[in-house]
Amino acid sequence: MDAIKGLMDFIDRAPTAFHAVAQIAGVLEDAGYERLEETEPWRIIPGGRYFFTRNRSSLIALRIPAEGFTPFQIVASHGDSPCFKLKPNADRVSQGLAALNVEKYGGMLMATWLDRPLSVAGRLVVKGEKGLETRLVNVERELALIPNVPIHFNRNANDGVALNAQVDMLPIVGMEGADVMAAVAECAGVGKAQIAGADLFLYNRDPARRFGVNGEFIAAPRLDDLACAYASLRALLAAKPSKHIDVMCVFDNEEVGSGSKQGAGSTLLIDALRRVALALGAGSQALEAALAGSFMVSADNAHAAHPGHPEKYDEQNRVFMNRGVVVKSNANQKYTSDGLSAAVFEGICEGAGVPTQRFSNRSDIAGGSTLGNIVSASASMNAVDIGLAQLAMHSACETMGAEDVGHMIRALAAFHEAEIRVTGDGSVAL
Ligand code: ZN
Repeated sequence: MDAIKGLMDFIDRAPTAFHAVAQIAGVLEDAGYERLEETEPWRIIPGGRYFFTRNRSSLIALRIPAEGFTPFQIVASHGDSPCFKLKPNADRVSQGLAALNVEKYGGMLMATWLDRPLSVAGRLVVKGEKGLETRLVNVERELALIPNVPIHFNRNANDGVALNAQVDMLPIVGMEGADVMAAVAECAGVGKAQIAGADLFLYNRDPARRFGVNGEFIAAPRLDDLACAYASLRALLAAKPSKHIDVMCVFDNEEVGSGSKQGAGSTLLIDALRRVALALGAGSQALEAALAGSFMVSADNAHAAHPGHPEKYDEQNRVFMNRGVVVKSNANQKYTSDGLSAAVFEGICEGAGVPTQRFSNRSDIAGGSTLGNIVSASASMNAVDIGLAQLAMHSACETMGAEDVGHMIRALAAFHEAEIRVTGDGSVAL
């Protein structure tokens, strides 16, 4: 399928990290990947392809070469995006209207969530015949909206408004008495009384769309980081067989610090790599040596130069949409890239004919962080931070360059196909 259309469909069907992971799992199964369960012993053979999920919201895919146990070449991204999460007692009533009690999930531009149709999706825990079961749910219709205060009551609104998450972010869902949980339960095919627990989120109902004189851009919710997650999936499937173990990770909870059991700060990745080693008969010496010789690409979107605010960006290290894959650097190591890892990755891209560009923040702006350096705490190896240039990061609707979808897929496929040989003296053969 066309990569741009494929990304837009993927985003439309991934209102939450749960749905993103379910979609990726389905694509991998169709491509012949075998599903593993963490709760059971793993049987892994040379030449095999596998994946597993944790919490149904993080996923790791593994492609084992015919050679058996080798170093790893890993691409990591995240499947969650900033949004609002329903609190446990979510029903609220105000001014004769049924509303939802929500809290912030991650650091979003709150104003972008106002005055646009929203809905609810996530995971339900339901009482089944054998105990508790989990069900994904997505109410696929316009269900909620967070109304602004009119300018007549806030004459300075265009000078900037301080929004209070408890007071201003009040999604209305109907007239008083409207039962939103009953609507969610019906959508999941269960009775409301069966619901024992829930992880439900608001999402923007806008579909992904192209815009521009020549359709140069994609406007969509959750581009950070579904664009990289999707590209990493396509790249893994497109890459020719290699002589090392290829790994794709899509982590949950990056937007809230990666500290959960399924986040990049957990033992998820190292658990998987260790189990692969054990299943292939490699001992801990072999595993440690393999890790030292491994390479990780942390793929998370980057800030494209804003047309109205060029002063926010470093003069020599700003990046632009549709001009290729971004390699991110930061002296404080918020990004994992260093001179060596950046050179390795840029060399691979050059060989594949994919343009790259370098990003670094202004020295007086802290900027963001991502999951690469967090993963390094448990699974340390050479790593580079990359991404796609986008505008309005953490808005309910973000913008990226349409051409960059193909750039990222080709770059990551070339990364999987490259045979990176790291040696102890710091040299790398390609
Ligand atoms: Zn991100």
